[in-house]
Amino acid sequence: MKEAEIREEIVRYGQKTLEEGLTSGTGGNISYSPPGEDFLYISPSGIPYHEIDPEEIPRVDYDGKPLDPDKPKPSSEAPLHSMVQSSVDRVNAIVHTHSPYASVIATLGKEIPPIYYLIANIGDKVPIAEYATYGTPEFGQAALDVLGDRNGALLEKHGALAVGSDVNGAYEAAGLIENLAKIYYRTLSTGVEVEPLDDEEIERLSEKFQNYGPETG
Ligand code: 13P
Ligand code: ZN
Repeated sequence: MKEAEIREEIVRYGQKTLEEGLTSGTGGNISYSPPGEDFLYISPSGIPYHEIDPEEIPRVDYDGKPLDPDKPKPSSEAPLHSMVQSSVDRVNAIVHTHSPYASVIATLGKEIPPIYYLIANIGDKVPIAEYATYGTPEFGQAALDVLGDRNGALLEKHGALAVGSDVNGAYEAAGLIENLAKIYYRTLSTGVEVEPLDDEEIERLSEKFQNYGPETG
């Protein structure tokens, strides 16, 4: 993928998070680290997604340090993005959102249990990272502590983190986490107790999802 395409993709998906209600204002951020590189392209801090020129997308190194002094300040969550991308090989893209239902569950301090089958696309659950101040290495470490082999996590009293091998994959995971949070919230409000799916079924679903979709070739 060419550099210009990466920059455009980050801007486009940032706009999508707003248009599709996955965040509001200048909340959330997106990063992509090309395979084999030890730096990330990351959305700039505090600039509305519709006002970002792809040329303005800054880069940070694996320690979260800015590499382009002439470009706008990188997202305040550069520590979170660089820590996760440098520590987890399979992750090349991150979408962090403040999507409404995920934020409610995160504010309740709850993880999302496996009560609905699509959760297997994320993992055995959507775990919750313990509260830490935004923009700090502690915030990044709290997320890393619970992520494991899953494609996302809730961030206590803050929002959600979604990961993938590319920006589209991380974005899809962010949308799914929001849907799972909505289903969980609405299920909770009925007061009816729901039996979670067991580990074996999650494993079976996760294998099936790997082959899900129209046949190719
Ligand atoms: P930035 O605008 O610095 O990316 O911050 C938004 C945010 O979501 C902080 O957690
Ligand atoms: Zn945030």
